[in-house]
Amino acid sequence: MSNQTNILANIAAIQARIDAACQLYQRDTPPTLMAVTKTRNAAEITAAIDAGITDIGENYLQEALSKQAELSTQPEYWHFIGPIQTNKTRAIASHFDWVHSVDRAKIITRLNDQRPNELPPLNICLQININDESSKAGATIDDIPALAELVNSQARLRLRGLMAIPANTSDIQQQRRNFAALRGILTSLQKQFPSAAIDTLSMGMSGDMESAIAEGATIVRIGSDIFGPRPTPKP
Ligand SMILES: *Cc1c(COP(=O)(O)O)cnc(C)c1O
Repeated sequence: MSNQTNILANIAAIQARIDAACQLYQRDTPPTLMAVTKTRNAAEITAAIDAGITDIGENYLQEALSKQAELSTQPEYWHFIGPIQTNKTRAIASHFDWVHSVDRAKIITRLNDQRPNELPPLNICLQININDESSKAGATIDDIPALAELVNSQARLRLRGLMAIPANTSDIQQQRRNFAALRGILTSLQKQFPSAAIDTLSMGMSGDMESAIAEGATIVRIGSDIFGPRPTPKP
């Protein structure tokens, strides 16, 4: 079986898992399935797009830009989901539709100032370090109201919601507690900014997708269950 065939079958299987979880947890609107394509090549991205994927997520800017240039068919939406260095904000603001990994003020003002005028406002999710892990990016929960206020005040940005990568655990109850906490913070943001269209919980990866759907994920970010395991993780 070719890799293309695997990707097609894997995506169909994930869609079936999403449908089953939506039925189980009584979700009327299924989350968007984002294919996370770090370390994957342009042909693999093309196979995912051919299988119906509209949203592609990338972690590393240079890698993303070279694949974007190589692709003959672009997805509907490019999402940047990796750590953001200050000197990368101009290219990120120019080449992506969404940024999920925003966690500090300097990045917010730079993305706004550098978002090209001919493009629509850049969709922003604030990343929360929900389990306070020193190894992970993300703002603290206490930082979120001020960061949200700043995003909301920028003309070239649109505050959409929250993203998190919780501590890796196979304990379903612990997974759900983390995602429920994120949902609670989103609800407070919706109260803080009643006129903003804050509608996004970017949560759930291959190992915890169902728990995220149970707690209201609107975008799930799936890599290895679509493309297979990543043999050589990047530093
Ligand atoms: C790699 C990555 C994913 C996908 O993880 P899988 O476990 O391969 O599904 C999702 N979100 C972020 C931020 C990632 O870096």
